[in-house]
Amino acid sequence: MKIFCVAMNYREANAEKKRLSSEPIFFLKPETALLLKNRPFFLPDFCNNIQYELEIVVRIGKIGKCIQQKYANTYYQELTLGIDFTAKDTLDYCRKNGFPWEIAKGFDASAPIGQFLPKTQFQNLQNLNFRLLKNGQEVQNGNTADMIFSIDEIIETVSKYYTLKMGDLLFTGTPLGVGQVQIGDHLEAFLEDKKLLDFFVR
Ligand code: MG
Repeated sequence: MKIFCVAMNYREANAEKKRLSSEPIFFLKPETALLLKNRPFFLPDFCNNIQYELEIVVRIGKIGKCIQQKYANTYYQELTLGIDFTAKDTLDYCRKNGFPWEIAKGFDASAPIGQFLPKTQFQNLQNLNFRLLKNGQEVQNGNTADMIFSIDEIIETVSKYYTLKMGDLLFTGTPLGVGQVQIGDHLEAFLEDKKLLDFFVR
């Protein structure tokens, strides 16, 4: 099972839709990054600044390679919310030194995900509201209409390089408002009116 994560996929508030690259930029996390069932997230001890990034997560439902955008929607039936936890100071250190930065993104439990919902519950997947509360206060609020690359475009690109298999996950990018978590923080995430994540940082 593979976890693909798209970076820089949301327009800044009020800015023009702008593509920084001709296709989505993405990286992978290993399967051990998954954190399920609202289990607590334990802050890793190698980093002093762990940041949340709330994202729509799509689960691949069948095997595919070199999938054209127009057929991409037949390759997924379910979605949920997830958090792409990032070890920010590790990331900055790796970037500054020109090192690979996988460890800043793919560490254990860096990908909490909620319960999956059938996509048929939603009229338009490119017009979904989602938001994150930290300790009861809204810190992120996005809409999938603001994605720079749509879910189907992401699938086209990712499947050009990697065979997609059933159960693979796509994290589709985060809107404005990323920030740090600390021990004791309570995170709750909503997709439209459905609460899909509710866990504590320990
Ligand atoms: Mg992200």
